[in-house]
Amino acid sequence: MTVTVLGSGTSTGVPIIGCPCEVCQSNDPHDKRLRASILLTGTKHVLIDSGPDLRQQALRAGVTQIAGVLYTHFHFDHLDGLPDLRPFTFEKTANLTCFANEQTYKKIREKYSYIRERAQHSNVPHLSLDLFEGSEEKGYAAFSIAGLTIQPIRLVHIPTAGVLSTGFVINKTFGYLTDFKTIHPDDEKYLFNLKALFLGSPIDREHVSHIQHSEALALIEKFAPLRGLVGHLSHQYSHNELCELWQGRAEPAFDGLEMEF
Ligand SMILES: [Zn+2]
Ligand SMILES: [Zn+2]
Ligand SMILES: [Zn+2]
Repeated sequence: MTVTVLGSGTSTGVPIIGCPCEVCQSNDPHDKRLRASILLTGTKHVLIDSGPDLRQQALRAGVTQIAGVLYTHFHFDHLDGLPDLRPFTFEKTANLTCFANEQTYKKIREKYSYIRERAQHSNVPHLSLDLFEGSEEKGYAAFSIAGLTIQPIRLVHIPTAGVLSTGFVINKTFGYLTDFKTIHPDDEKYLFNLKALFLGSPIDREHVSHIQHSEALALIEKFAPLRGLVGHLSHQYSHNELCELWQGRAEPAFDGLEMEF
């Protein structure tokens, strides 16, 4: 399988509109961070999240078909490119299935109440929306799409607001945990000794809804993947500064980064 980072940025993206800071003004392409999204390529393409930069990301990566979307949670920077999935369903035989936990599923149904599995009008995205099998209480079962085995991981994103998110381990090889504060202890067993573990952490200060950089580095040390990556990055540091700061303990993710497993 191939894993491609479509977006390595936090919710504003980098550069932030109007920001005069050095990172936002940087000419290094590594410092151009679109909103968080991952492209998985098995027998077909599968997306993790469909953020507001989806159209630009799909054009840039040359993605012309998608078998499904795995949603981490309902925040706009992960969800609100959903209407741009429509071109992937123009072909009448295309079958595009989105997967989410119950909280995210409900929010998608509320926000995009017009999506249909088989719509009468071609201006409506034809999407199936499914729940992961299992529950937040008991845990989720692994499932297959495009020849990839997906194990959902239970995460808490904003403890004070009860916002949950879902991480994914693909083919027992690649772990992707983006917006979260804590990992469900019963799901930690899926995270040890992976070929790559990708964690979302925007800044190196305490944050209400994200782990900070020092916590990301500690988790990478604990789970001991061959490669530890950190994404969902803000404009606090440039790519080069992060490489310097982390000294190989973790790699800063960047848009276009591709990994073959
Ligand atoms: Zn986010
Ligand atoms: Zn800035
Ligand atoms: Zn979020």
